[in-house]
Amino acid sequence: MYAQVIVDIAHSQVDRIFEYSCGDDVRAGSRVKVPFGGRIIDGFIVGLSEKSSFPPDKIKPLSEVYEEPPALVEECFSLMNEISARYRVPKAVCLRLFLPAEMRAGRVHEVYKKIVKLSDGGITLSKSAKKQLEFIEYLKECGEAEYTALCEQFGRGAVNAVIEKGGALLEKVKINRAPAVWEAPAEGGKVLTPAQQAALESIENTEKTVHLIHGVTGSGKTEIYLNVISRALERGKTAIFLVPEISLTPQMFSQLRRRFGEKAAILHSGLSAGERFDEWWRLRTGEAKIAIGARSAIFSPLENIGAIIIDEEHDGSYFSESAPRYSTVEVAEMRAKNNGCKLILGSATPSVETYSKAISGEYNLITLTQRINGKPLPHITIADMRKEVKRGNNSAFSSALREELADTLESGNQAILFLNRRGYSHTVICQDCGYALKCENCDVSLAYHSEENCLKCHYCGAKYHMPRACPECGGLHLRYGGTGTQRVVADLKKEFPEARILRMDNDTTSGKEGHYKILRQFAEKKADILVGTQMIAKGHDFPSVTLVGILDADMSLHFSDYRAGERTFQLITQVAGRSGRAGEAGKVVLQTFSPENYILRYAVNYDYSGFFANEINLRQATKFPPYSLIVRVMVTAEDDGPALEALKGVYFGTEKLRSEHPREFIFLNKMHSPIKKIQGRVRYQVLMRLESGALLPEIYDLSVKYTTQNALVYVEENPVNLS
Ligand code: ADP
Ligand code: ZN
Repeated sequence: MYAQVIVDIAHSQVDRIFEYSCGDDVRAGSRVKVPFGGRIIDGFIVGLSEKSSFPPDKIKPLSEVYEEPPALVEECFSLMNEISARYRVPKAVCLRLFLPAEMRAGRVHEVYKKIVKLSDGGITLSKSAKKQLEFIEYLKECGEAEYTALCEQFGRGAVNAVIEKGGALLEKVKINRAPAVWEAPAEGGKVLTPAQQAALESIENTEKTVHLIHGVTGSGKTEIYLNVISRALERGKTAIFLVPEISLTPQMFSQLRRRFGEKAAILHSGLSAGERFDEWWRLRTGEAKIAIGARSAIFSPLENIGAIIIDEEHDGSYFSESAPRYSTVEVAEMRAKNNGCKLILGSATPSVETYSKAISGEYNLITLTQRINGKPLPHITIADMRKEVKRGNNSAFSSALREELADTLESGNQAILFLNRRGYSHTVICQDCGYALKCENCDVSLAYHSEENCLKCHYCGAKYHMPRACPECGGLHLRYGGTGTQRVVADLKKEFPEARILRMDNDTTSGKEGHYKILRQFAEKKADILVGTQMIAKGHDFPSVTLVGILDADMSLHFSDYRAGERTFQLITQVAGRSGRAGEAGKVVLQTFSPENYILRYAVNYDYSGFFANEINLRQATKFPPYSLIVRVMVTAEDDGPALEALKGVYFGTEKLRSEHPREFIFLNKMHSPIKKIQGRVRYQVLMRLESGALLPEIYDLSVKYTTQNALVYVEENPVNLS
């Protein structure tokens, strides 16, 4: 037999299939070691054949086949080709997507424990072998026990002696490192509401691949997803369920476990390498049938997929920011087509692009307008911070928010305060010369972190001592600008000394299960107020939360990005949706310096249709997506020289394309990226707006052509982040 092998080298020059000879028992999808250019390296078998087109003496045998079931499912081979062609990345890079990173590096292995069992054949021991007799008696009672524990209790000598005499058996069993979930008694399905029932029927009976559930927060979308999954399982199929990375909602995981038990496997970045590895194998072997996780779980090793669900489909984390820079929805559509299954997108605030596909009929649109509990959506009060400042209130809290907080604490309910900025202050500015302290590796200001009394760069993680004086002018008056979560907590403690406060942001959630611990404490009402960033915006369902404060609604509004309005609308709706989910009606206080802004007006009234109609008109008039495609070709390098060289190449290449296809181009320019340097690498870009994706292949070609040893060039389509 001959094996077609992709070698695990991420380079375009070896991006093709190599052939090796192998035995008849070798299976496609297996990981192998092969001789390659004088070395032995890893590879993957992507196909097998009886014959080879090469002369036999030119073909080398495989060096080794990994002793494990084939790691790649068959669908990987076609997906590999699709993804590699679509995003112009080597096939090996595509295949890596399908494997847990830990596996490739060989850092993680299965773990085993040794257990000792009583054997069938009895043995006779002399009365003097006291320890051995005790040990046998013990085993008779418990049946089996761990080898190491037994050795501690009875002595290694005694245990080994009994095993040698055949009185007990030593066995190796695999341990599944299982991720922690909120302990969960099994739970059956809920009785569906008529709206949920109708949604399910619409999904089943509409002959379209993609379905969008646009349902207000608390309208019971999750219950619909769970039903879609159980129907897939009933038909003997599997399912993939994606949630945004930042939400990492343990509640969602526990809900899945309650409903589906061990059939649900969890894949996310908060797991230890070992846990992820074991969960992944449970999916691969078919022991688990449902994969739940963030973006990368779309590559789960499942066969015979019956449904793919993407919750909070508008979330930015569904776009990969490293190669391949894929859109999760796009990959999900590929898998849905390969498996002949449905793709269900859900959101209270669908992205403008998705929603326009839904109303144009490309996707099946399902709308849920009511919350399950029949309660209205929480009332949103706008607090005009300009007036507060005029009145002399310079704190982070408006008087309206302060009063509501006092009421909430009084009544024993809980509050969530949202501010998308961690640290104590966003910047440190010299009041004498106006200089803002900056990172040495990145072109960004440093944030002050009060807990460690240091300055941190939020782009590269570098830490600096807080200087006593301005490094530019020596002035001693350094001022903190831009409130962060740490400062909010400090201010809250002053104003509400009795309140128990939790903070959830990147600084408090590091380590395994960091998120989990904080959310858990809050769910158990061990705190009254949860202060947090983006992370607390989504998905969480805390019945006692009756107040949500959005401290700085303007932050995302003023980004110079065509999606700024859309993002702000989404964020407000999502955060507000955390309030009043159970018994009592919820309230929201939204603080802003631009209360008359139309986006905020739509958000306050939960008027998605109004927002969408306005936004889509604007996009059409100004020719922004979905009426165009924004493409950014990024060039980064350690030095200006190679960066500018590559930039020139890409730009001239693009100009040539424009001269050939003038109608395709709406805009084209080259420039410094808004953030000129990150992690010591300078950043330049060729930015263009195109009528369609027709020229994408040529533009990807340019990025490959001008990537050098010293300059990295890559393409971003409608980038989530234009910094
Ligand atoms: P969404 O995902 O749309 O924000 P959820 O699925 O979280 O909404 O549902 C909101 C609340 O309603 C949850 O507490 C959920 O347990 C409850 N719920 C959902 N469907 C039903 C139902 N059919 N009967 C009773 N309670 C339900
Ligand atoms: Zn930095």
